[in-house]
Amino acid sequence: MTLRGNIKAAFAELRKKHGFFARMDWKCCQGCGWAAVPEAHDGPIAFFHQQDNDNLRDDGYCYIAFGHSADESCGDDLSQQAGETLVAVLRKHGCEVEWDGDTMRRPKVLLPAPVDPPDAPYKLTDNQRKFVADATEQDLEIDYDYSGRGMYGKTCPAVRLDGMGDFATKAETSWDNMGLRYVVYATG
Ligand SMILES: [Zn+2]
Repeated sequence: MTLRGNIKAAFAELRKKHGFFARMDWKCCQGCGWAAVPEAHDGPIAFFHQQDNDNLRDDGYCYIAFGHSADESCGDDLSQQAGETLVAVLRKHGCEVEWDGDTMRRPKVLLPAPVDPPDAPYKLTDNQRKFVADATEQDLEIDYDYSGRGMYGKTCPAVRLDGMGDFATKAETSWDNMGLRYVVYATG
């Protein structure tokens, strides 16, 4: 699941079911983007431009411009409706959307923060979530009750491995040698 993929699916639905002119990576800036919406289009509009596209690629978020072809006063009911539909459809397709309902502001779209897995017995740090997500993806069993050296009874998620190379993760980890096996764990 990528943010771009989610937005793409949302825009497809906006075009097909809600009569939007909806385009990704549309022109160089907002001014040119608005100017290039076809005259013949009669209905709601949503797009993000090339600079937004850079943000999406490099920083994992994107602002989306919206409005309506019949909006005369910049922010009337038609634009309001377009914004509300845009936000609802983006959320339906797995996007997190920050928008205060003000038609003069563009909604900010991002991927939702990862949530704790349902079987986690305590609240995980971001690093531990990464660790658990990687371990789950690689079909490793997670021991949430591991207490490593110097942890004084505090517990953290761990996996047990035959070889240190058996688990690939970008989370920060520590490891203990347990005879022939290894324990890799994320303390924080
Ligand atoms: Zn431009």
